[in-house]
Amino acid sequence: MAFEGLTERLQNAMKKLRGKGKISEADLRETMREIRLALLEADVNFTVVRNFVKTVQDRAKGSEVLEGLNPSQQIIKIVDEELTKMMGDEAVPLNKAPKIPTIIMMSGLQGAGKTTTAGKLALKLKDEENARPLLVADDVYRPAAIDQLETVGEQIGVPVFQLGTDVDPVEIAKRGVAKAIEDHNDYVIIDTAGRLQIDEALMGQLKNIKAEVQPNEILLVIDSMTGQNAVNTAEGFNDALDVTGVVLTKLDGDTRGGAALSIRAVTDKPIKFVGQGEKMSDLDVFYPDRMASRILG
Ligand code: GDP
Repeated sequence: MAFEGLTERLQNAMKKLRGKGKISEADLRETMREIRLALLEADVNFTVVRNFVKTVQDRAKGSEVLEGLNPSQQIIKIVDEELTKMMGDEAVPLNKAPKIPTIIMMSGLQGAGKTTTAGKLALKLKDEENARPLLVADDVYRPAAIDQLETVGEQIGVPVFQLGTDVDPVEIAKRGVAKAIEDHNDYVIIDTAGRLQIDEALMGQLKNIKAEVQPNEILLVIDSMTGQNAVNTAEGFNDALDVTGVVLTKLDGDTRGGAALSIRAVTDKPIKFVGQGEKMSDLDVFYPDRMASRILG
């Protein structure tokens, strides 16, 4: 399971408090030191860890936890609540347009899982809302990307709009949206191009697409397995595009958890979905409280 190292270390840190009727400040300091190391080892952003530790420590001291009934339980509760807060507190739903179609623009680095996630999201909307989405193939730099999206569309029974690789992506996006309006689609999901790393040309083009179609939702697709690089990438995209939500992919293979725990705090943008596998059905709404409980084991 994902994050097993972190879970084990957090449990060990807190185990030492168990059964103690009273916790000394030194006990608390030692526990917090171990929690801090566990989070850093999980590749959580340094500043995020520092703030987290300080908040938990202040709350534990301030609320007379150290003297109260079952202090270790109370500290676990505080850690649980603060982890939840760190990841955004509440699940945040997709932004919807007042009038159909809702325009969703996917963005992210190549390989992060954009195309796959576009398909997964279309299937989710189709299954759960009975919606009729349209997928738009707007990655013209990787010819295989169009084929990939068409294959995905066929697999989930969702139409794909494409104009090949010779048309400007801004134009494709615009015509894709026009097609969705014409066909009364509820959603139009635009799969944009990625690069191996952030570059000016790519960001310029994404900004142009955004300005042209004015999406209701700009989802940034981030590979959680890349840890702090994922967080830096998220900051870069967010600075350029002012994204409205994050999708963390490949959580099924993420043994550390640093990206999941840092992205919200660093970018101040909500994680809306998580990808937990390669199948089209492997996309889930992100619930910070459930994730915190899962991390604490
Ligand atoms: P893109 O370049 O951003 O469009 O990335 P793709 O959608 O082509 O995905 C790259 C690879 O990551 C593919 O092999 C996907 O099957 C895989 N992938 C995407 N999301 C997930 C996920 O949540 N879990 C796992 N295990 N693999 C994923």
